[in-house]
Amino acid sequence: MTTSTEERLSLLADYCRERGVPMTAQRRAVFEKVLSHKDHPTAERIYEEVQTVLPQTSRATVYRALDTLVEAKLVQRIAHPEARTRFDPVMQPHNHLICESCGRVEDLEENAKLLSPGDFDVPSWEIKQVTILLQGLCSKCRG
Ligand SMILES: [Zn+2]
Ligand SMILES: [Zn+2]
Repeated sequence: MTTSTEERLSLLADYCRERGVPMTAQRRAVFEKVLSHKDHPTAERIYEEVQTVLPQTSRATVYRALDTLVEAKLVQRIAHPEARTRFDPVMQPHNHLICESCGRVEDLEENAKLLSPGDFDVPSWEIKQVTILLQGLCSKCRG
């Protein structure tokens, strides 16, 4: 169930309209750059790429635009052991593989292993989401 870039951009436009915030060229460019990646880019990478199309865009603007996309549930943050958050435009639940050597993040296609919040019973907590990070060495780093 993939949604086209155009459809997703119109979801962002709807969100901005509802919130009364402008759908700026910068917001749009940030979203387009995230959507163009399958490899879970860092905010810094998105910033660098937005510079190529809108060189006046500040780092703070890019970071705020990413926050907006996360709030709009159009992009998700992935915790990364390197402490640099990665961004993922795939909103369907899925698991990740992380390389301890080069830091690359890939989607784990094996979705049979998805766990749901109902699989956990943590006293006094309401569990909303479960993600698994598998850490190891990617095919390149294994040499
Ligand atoms: Zn690697
Ligand atoms: Zn992913």
